[in-house]
Amino acid sequence: MNIALVAHDRKKDDMVNFATAYQALFNGHVLYATGTTGARIAMATELTIHRFQSGPMGGDQQIGALIAENRLDLLIFLRDPLMAQPHEPDIIALLRLCDVHNIPVATNLASAEMLLRGLWRGDLAWRDVIEEKS
Ligand code: PGA
Repeated sequence: MNIALVAHDRKKDDMVNFATAYQALFNGHVLYATGTTGARIAMATELTIHRFQSGPMGGDQQIGALIAENRLDLLIFLRDPLMAQPHEPDIIALLRLCDVHNIPVATNLASAEMLLRGLWRGDLAWRDVIEEKS
């Protein structure tokens, strides 16, 4: 699976801890991240991550492009709901594309954990069925 990881500044420690905790699971997948999030995870883990631009510089849009090209299977996006972001339109566009293309997306740690556990159990296999039919 192709998985993208994005965390706003005040959520980056959470993302690093999450990626560390689930490193063994992430290891079997292709990982993408926005610039700073990817750098932080790469420093703390052994994971290989394809890093895009920093979010405010277009990284969210680059991940959106992956979705539009049917090259992303899951997004974990730890948003900061208490801080205004300069690239809010990009964030909204990214989440919109997840809904347009039926991409599982988690925007907080609790749902991220549920998604990863589902991934581990093979619960996302229904997407293969949909893709076979289309
Ligand atoms: P960053 O981007 O990982 O480069 O900080 C994340 C964001 O703010 O969207």
